[in-house]
Amino acid sequence: MGELDEQTCFDAALKYGRLRRWCWRCFFGMLILIVLLYLAAVAAHAFQLDLNRKVRGGLFSLFALGWLLCWMGCMGSSIALKNFRCPRCRKRFTLKRCWGWAGNRCLHCQLDLGPSAITKAHAEVDL
Ligand SMILES: [Zn+2]
Repeated sequence: MGELDEQTCFDAALKYGRLRRWCWRCFFGMLILIVLLYLAAVAAHAFQLDLNRKVRGGLFSLFALGWLLCWMGCMGSSIALKNFRCPRCRKRFTLKRCWGWAGNRCLHCQLDLGPSAITKAHAEVDL
């Protein structure tokens, strides 16, 4: 296990943080779209909106397309997180199993790539 220069650690922390944010955004995007679809259905029923079949189909297709895009983003970023290699030990950084939330520390060498690592690298560069 070799030593790690600060720039490599900083770059890895930025990439890892970006992947985590994408994963969370897409995950919450899926949830928000499901809630919006439910609220739209409840509102249409409550106000007795009689949308024609093409409008309903178009709206549902928009929700479905948005949900599918979010799902694809969530899966893609999850796979990228699972396969993310630790810059220090070169092993998989996190997620021994298929499902679970990615942590900030390497499971093997305990390297921290969380927000504190980015802040620390910025502070050392500024000095
Ligand atoms: Zn490691």
